[in-house]
Amino acid sequence: MTGPAIAPAGSGASERYEAVIGIEIHCQLKTASKMFCGCSTEIDGAAPNSHCCPVCLGLPGVLPTINKTAVEYVIATGFAIEATVAATTRWDRKNYFYPDLPKGYQISQYQLPLAANGRLTFDTSAGRFTVRVRRAHLEEDTGRLIHDELDGRRVSLIDFNRSGMPLMEIVTEPDIRTAEQARRYAEELRLLMRTIGASDAEMENGQMRVEANVSIRPRGREAFGTRVEVKNMNSMRAVERAISFEIERQAAEIDAGGTIRMETRGWEDGSQSTYHMRPKEEENDYRYFPEPDLPPLLTTPEWLAEIRARLPELPAARRARYRDAFGLSAYDAGVLVNDAAATALFEGALAAGRGVPVKLLANWVTGEYMRLAKEDARGGSADPAELAALVKLVADGAISGTNAKEVLADHFSSGRPVASIVESGGFRQISDAGALRAVIDEVLAANPAAVADYRSGRAAAVAFLVGQVMKATRGQANAAMVQTFLRERLDNVE
Ligand code: ADP
Ligand code: MG
Ligand code: ZN
Repeated sequence: MTGPAIAPAGSGASERYEAVIGIEIHCQLKTASKMFCGCSTEIDGAAPNSHCCPVCLGLPGVLPTINKTAVEYVIATGFAIEATVAATTRWDRKNYFYPDLPKGYQISQYQLPLAANGRLTFDTSAGRFTVRVRRAHLEEDTGRLIHDELDGRRVSLIDFNRSGMPLMEIVTEPDIRTAEQARRYAEELRLLMRTIGASDAEMENGQMRVEANVSIRPRGREAFGTRVEVKNMNSMRAVERAISFEIERQAAEIDAGGTIRMETRGWEDGSQSTYHMRPKEEENDYRYFPEPDLPPLLTTPEWLAEIRARLPELPAARRARYRDAFGLSAYDAGVLVNDAAATALFEGALAAGRGVPVKLLANWVTGEYMRLAKEDARGGSADPAELAALVKLVADGAISGTNAKEVLADHFSSGRPVASIVESGGFRQISDAGALRAVIDEVLAANPAAVADYRSGRAAAVAFLVGQVMKATRGQANAAMVQTFLRERLDNVE
């Protein structure tokens, strides 16, 4: 018997079935040394096995030491997601056999995670959504297997540089119902990690790994279906696509009379589909037991208070402040806060440019700046103080919006100061009424036909005349003033 055909996306599965999704995220924590030893975490591009010691190689007779900063990052994350932070926590051994795991177990946290029962709220295209976070705990990473060819033979090599790197695992309740909600959750968590400084959370290089547990059930039924774990998504887009694909695949399987197996599937960007990797391990396969080499960890109220006090302004609070204090729309506040570089530019420009109009500044950051940053491939940037200066020129009518865009593009790529670009490019706007009226009189005298057109009822002739004034001033005339003065002359003069 052949398998059922895969239903094309949008086959209507979502009308008959509801998806149930839980997300597990691993983030590499931004510490200087590894989780239980003094080895440096600067392993990018390092020679294989150059950042190892007896502890992270799992040699007999060594003892682990807890990395305090890693613990603090997880506690800070716990506070940020309104979780309960444990007063006392414990370490457990998660046992399994795999060549990239030198000790034959990972030190992790099983029964007493550092943080539990949190929540994360974020906006989606269908409105605000809250996901309950079951737990956030600390563990250590494994080494890395490299499958290669050596003297014509296929070999598997092991690099233990990653072994013992600090990882935070964050697990949600199965609250998520759509692929978009899942992507948005992962994006919001990534933003939170970067805001706290706990992790750079780049998916492309594995600093953030998102795994989705996906099941479906007929709409109206309460019991969950069998779940499939999907991994290997290397971008937020891939997270959304992989989950959508998996929902459709499961619906097609069930519609064809099949059943869903507990399994781990991998996302493949090339074919935009998931494939079977392995059957899912049962939980008790890991034979968890308390780590005998580490004492329970006590988190004193003083320590917790200190960590809480160090928390920066979090994304949700920042969006609310941008709306309430600056009058930005919810949409603009979201766009601004969701992009860390844009937020830094906005905050920096506010601090640098006393009296810069906030809403106009926000428009320039979310509009022109973000457009330039998105198109940019050569690492251009905008200086906050320079942007503040430019926005002030626009607000004062000293430079037109159109010219300001050119000035920003120049500054973005060349780094030259705004003032010198404006002067050397002749971008300063002419807002002097006398000067503008003189140019207008010249243009009217030179274009009697257009003037006659306008007076015989062709209002569109104004646009032509405005264009002539702009041309005569090389685009520097204040367009709004030109409009007003032109109409005054045309309507009042015989
Ligand atoms: P495991 O031990 O395999 O990691 P967990 O019970 O820790 O399993 O759950 C892992 C994730 O799977 C959690 O995010 C949880 O919310 C989610 N999950 C559990 N059951 C289901 C289900 N039936 N469908 C979708 N997700 C589920
Ligand atoms: Mg798990
Ligand atoms: Zn080490």
